[in-house]
Amino acid sequence: MIYLFLCIALTFGAEVDVNTFSNYIEVSQEHVHIEWLLDLDGQYINATSQSIFRVNSNKLKQIDLDIYQLNIIAVYMTSTGNVLKHNIINKGDQSLLQGDVLSIQLDRVYTRGEYINLNIKYNLDSKGARALGFLTKEQTYSKTVPYLFSQCEDNNCRSIIPLQDTPSIKIYFTATVLVKDPRINVFMTGNKLYNMKFKLLNNYENLQALTIYQFELNIKIPAYLIGIIAGEVVEKSTGNGTYVIAEPHFIDDYAQELSDLPMYMKEMQEYIGPYIWGDYKIVILPASFPFGGMEHPLLTFASPTIIVGDKSGVGTAIHEIAHSWVGNTVTGRNWANFWINEGFCVFLERKILSKLNGLDSVKLDAINGNSSAYTSMQTFGLDNSFSSMHPNTTNRNPDEATSRVPYEKGYQLLTYLETLIQEDPFQKFLRDYIENFKFQSIDEDQLYQFLLNWVRKNKQEDSQKIITEIQKVWKKWVYEPGLAPITIDVTTPLFTNANNLAKAWIDGKGEIPEQANDFLQYKPNQKSVFLQYLIDNYKDVETAVMTKIDEQYKLTFYKDQKTGYKWYRLILLVKYDQGLEGVHDFVSKVGVSSYLKVLYDLLGQNYNKQAYDWFDENKTFYHPVVVQAIEKILQKYPKKLIVE
Ligand SMILES: [Zn+2]
Repeated sequence: MIYLFLCIALTFGAEVDVNTFSNYIEVSQEHVHIEWLLDLDGQYINATSQSIFRVNSNKLKQIDLDIYQLNIIAVYMTSTGNVLKHNIINKGDQSLLQGDVLSIQLDRVYTRGEYINLNIKYNLDSKGARALGFLTKEQTYSKTVPYLFSQCEDNNCRSIIPLQDTPSIKIYFTATVLVKDPRINVFMTGNKLYNMKFKLLNNYENLQALTIYQFELNIKIPAYLIGIIAGEVVEKSTGNGTYVIAEPHFIDDYAQELSDLPMYMKEMQEYIGPYIWGDYKIVILPASFPFGGMEHPLLTFASPTIIVGDKSGVGTAIHEIAHSWVGNTVTGRNWANFWINEGFCVFLERKILSKLNGLDSVKLDAINGNSSAYTSMQTFGLDNSFSSMHPNTTNRNPDEATSRVPYEKGYQLLTYLETLIQEDPFQKFLRDYIENFKFQSIDEDQLYQFLLNWVRKNKQEDSQKIITEIQKVWKKWVYEPGLAPITIDVTTPLFTNANNLAKAWIDGKGEIPEQANDFLQYKPNQKSVFLQYLIDNYKDVETAVMTKIDEQYKLTFYKDQKTGYKWYRLILLVKYDQGLEGVHDFVSKVGVSSYLKVLYDLLGQNYNKQAYDWFDENKTFYHPVVVQAIEKILQKYPKKLIVE
């Protein structure tokens, strides 16, 4: 093992990405241009990609790219049109998990420093393209035209573009998208162009009837940050270069809820430094969007669950803004270093939230975050590498390792470092870190070396003491599964109060506690603590308690879906049958993957028939990656035949 590690370290100087089949070390993709003709009714895309590769080895004969269920028609040299031989190498049991290899035989041997320009003609459809959610027009609010949205992270971009699908490689991205229906508006990662900068690669019948959109991004990005939406959507300015995009019916309400976007941007820049990407646009997607948010540059996606009506859900928007620095400018090199994106991002998010909502509120967020990370660790197993900040994703789809663990343990590590280094110098460290690694993909080893050097240089008197403390915990914190080796201080009366109220409910066995009305003043994060206490002690929660809580707080069909989700978890754990219709309504209206995975797991255990019936009902509403995840969960609970 040590020998192998040394070999890798000596050869590449950094950790390789085990989740790509591309030969990205010998040859690196520099630029990807795509030309797509969208057929949203047929759920089909006619595509051509044009790429520039830089050769990094001395005898390059082939280029291997990642693909997932793509139909490859031809590969040819951009300049001459000469067709190149290609093979699809089927990866056996990895084929449906992580995809296959498109292996392209070059026309000669290439050497270090040369560039290769290639075009690939291909097509894709809704069956194979697991990065895409195709909604029929009936699934949209206005029901006029269909809707398309993508989710490439972690490694789903290979299901829409043949490329080096690894965060180790950053590319310039440009696109031409053609649509047949002029009512369909398109947005992609990058700036929308209005002057037809890119010549068309193909001839189209009836070209004048097509609407053409073009996009360009002048900063390199990893493939997982490529995103698209197409549908009847409009954008509305929220001031100072910030915009909200949504279906027309919702745009005014959403823009109102997100009217503080310019202020969030200002606060973030004051803390971490200038924003370099251009206009900040946030799309509020239809309900089947599987995540809370996704940080594509210039085109953040967010779930409608963040729109609560009182701005209490907009922490997600602040999180996605923070990714403009951590994740998008400095990027984790592979999925084992995902915490380099997310841990830093949560740290920045909570820095700004503590200014806006106070430190006690942020402590509640940290408590809630840690509790969902711990739930994931219990599901993975406390000694499983997925319960560490550095998951081993060899031969796995890295999506399987996705959980709050890297977010929260990463946040806790940075908070601990901040207490060692002190608040103002730590802010300087973060700014220097961004400056030093901007536009690069890095791993935790590079971060670690940079941190130690920075402390040596900037904390002269205390530096040795601080370095010793860091060295004591670093390896354990990053590599070992389970809870972090040091617990950060999150004590707050808000937590104690919510726990005491929940305990009083349980002890009352159906009597209403004296302080019951406190709950009505709670913000969502304090409600979440209250409900988490009941979840942790669900075996002691009697049906009479559930009935009274529901009467008092009206939690079934609750409008804030974060709170609703925890209440429904409790309903399924306690087997509170009277609340089941609320769960049914929730899983039919909310497409967020992390919620659905937990709820379907509990449904499978305790309400087998409903699990299968409700999944069948909602399959076409959920995003393909969610359908796959739920199918996997339900395999654990085979369908019971009910004789009527
Ligand atoms: Zn994030």
